[in-house]
Amino acid sequence: MDNCIFCKIANGEIPSATLYEDNEFRVILDLGPASKGHALILPKAHAADIYELPEETAGKAMILAKHMAEKMKDALKCDGFNIVQNNGEIAGQTVFHFHMHLIPRYKGDQVGLTWKPGKLSDEERDEILAKIK
Ligand code: AMP
Ligand code: ZN
Repeated sequence: MDNCIFCKIANGEIPSATLYEDNEFRVILDLGPASKGHALILPKAHAADIYELPEETAGKAMILAKHMAEKMKDALKCDGFNIVQNNGEIAGQTVFHFHMHLIPRYKGDQVGLTWKPGKLSDEERDEILAKIK
């Protein structure tokens, strides 16, 4: 992808604050952090979103997220940790190269990742089960 900023960052064409790198991934600090240490896991091969992401890369990304969360928890002494991954504009995706957000959480921080819980009706439950299960 010629014009993808995360392709360029992941492959080292644009410099970044890199926390980790291997043949397939780069982990960088987010330039607009939600909290101290907010980082992004970027696969080096372009995939726009989770639908395009190869299964093998998806598996490795989750394992890497676990390792980074452990390391960051120890290093930053955070009190909690969110892993967030947005797909599509309505879901908050602004860069269309798959990435996982690693967001350390601290007591009293102002990070907002909550929603107002609805109620699952019997009709909706049955409709969804019929469509997906
Ligand atoms: P999303 O909204 O899930 O697509 O996340 C995109 C994230 O990328 C945001 O948190 C941005 O702050 C971050 N971001 C955008 N451009 C850069 C960049 N050049 N370097 C580091 N992080 C970036
Ligand atoms: Zn890309």
